[in-house]
Amino acid sequence: MNSTVHTSDIRDHAAAPEAGEILDVHAALAEADGRAPVEALFERLDETIAASVELLEPWGEDDWFYLRYGPAVTATYGIDMAGRLVSEMSEPAARAYLELLNRVRRERTPLLAVLESVAVRRVRTWEKLILPCKAPCGSDRIATFVTARRSREDLLTAVLEASQDGIMSVRAVRDPQGRVVDAVIVTANQQASEYSGHPVWRLVHGSFKALFPGLVARRVWDRCVRVVEERVTERFEINISHRRLDTWLRVTIVPLEDGFVISFCDVTDLKYALIEAECSREELAAEIEQRLALEEELRRLSHTDELTQTLNRRGFDAAMRREIALAGRYQRPFSLIAVDIDHFKRINDVHGHAAGDRVLTAVAELLRAAVRADADVIGRIGGEEFVLLLPSTRKEGAMALAERIRERLASEIFEVAGERIGVSASFGVAEAEIGAEEDDVMRAADAALYAAKRSGRNRVCLARPPAEVVRPRAVAS
Ligand code: GH3
Ligand code: MG
Ligand code: MG
Repeated sequence: MNSTVHTSDIRDHAAAPEAGEILDVHAALAEADGRAPVEALFERLDETIAASVELLEPWGEDDWFYLRYGPAVTATYGIDMAGRLVSEMSEPAARAYLELLNRVRRERTPLLAVLESVAVRRVRTWEKLILPCKAPCGSDRIATFVTARRSREDLLTAVLEASQDGIMSVRAVRDPQGRVVDAVIVTANQQASEYSGHPVWRLVHGSFKALFPGLVARRVWDRCVRVVEERVTERFEINISHRRLDTWLRVTIVPLEDGFVISFCDVTDLKYALIEAECSREELAAEIEQRLALEEELRRLSHTDELTQTLNRRGFDAAMRREIALAGRYQRPFSLIAVDIDHFKRINDVHGHAAGDRVLTAVAELLRAAVRADADVIGRIGGEEFVLLLPSTRKEGAMALAERIRERLASEIFEVAGERIGVSASFGVAEAEIGAEEDDVMRAADAALYAAKRSGRNRVCLARPPAEVVRPRAVAS
């Protein structure tokens, strides 16, 4: 039971239009101690108003006895308390009313109480205007004008019933240790009965756990307990069969007093729309992934030399552009080694073109094994001509590497189709520094390679002088 008590501005808080009139009558009759003679009060009150006035006298320690119960109140609620004690009313209504009566007896000023009680499928709001009075003998009496705020009650009931959501308010049942062991359904609307499969009359006052074994099995009960104990709100979705249809319900559980309100909202359409959207999203994502993979493969193929699986001219040019940009950004040098197999024409002539191909593949393999797999780049830019791009490498390092490769190649004997073939190659090394342009470095490496060929082949030559191949960036004057 919720109650709000007003001792000032009572007229403003009262919903009953008669409240003002009653207060005026009471004020006019009230004596110095605040109490009005009860007979005079009833004489002055309009007959219809008097039909809603109860009269009480103190009884024992703090109980009160109904001398009179308003006939209009009896007509509305079907009970007559005349000749009975307030404590005979159901708890906690009795307790709340007794407190108010004793307070008015003590303070001797009128008081307005707005009381809310949750009944079966109805929220009732009452208004009690409690007035201090006295009997002819001088002892205390209290006259209470009672009205039910019917319009509000009807509205709440109508709202509850009009809701498309199933709504139940539930009170916790605790064991002697205070643990929540079950819950009793206090109120349930028609839609809740629809979803539960039980008529409303069976739901109300029923055990939550007994009526909803399916929810208990799905650990929904555990969530209910959590809501009661931790005063949190739970929201989730469950799948049920409603009228033999697959139905998704969004369940919301919010704490209310020592219990909770649980509501069920049908989100089946939304759920299916989401599932559909999710499926097409996944399909789309898979297609995009496939396309990206395909594009990546095409790009790789368009940049790769089929025979040796090193970069082709296009791929190597792209790698060069990238490296020049990086070298500029990070102020780092890089070097090129141009490699050309010596007298390769003869290999073709002697062993055949297919054997020549196998030698090219073997040379590419040897180059791959000699460089840093994660940094260096190998390109085949002519028939039997390769270029190695060595990031962050100065000419000394590049010369040493070229020399190692030269030696290894010259000492290697390739077994091709049962024949043993030895090859050598000539190398041109050039270092590019900051501001170098693609063609400059390439041309310098080529020139060095040409020099190596001219001076007898099977050797490494360094581009000279480096200043020729490194052109500082133009500085605006
Ligand atoms: P040098 O020492 O001056 O470089 O002599 P070389 O014979 O290696 O040079 P040249 O440029 O005269 O000959 C290159 C030969 O490489 C000519 C060509 O038939 C051969 N060649 C080019 N591409 C391929 C290929 O893909 N496979 C094979 N087997 N041979 C190729
Ligand atoms: Mg050549
Ligand atoms: Mg050659």
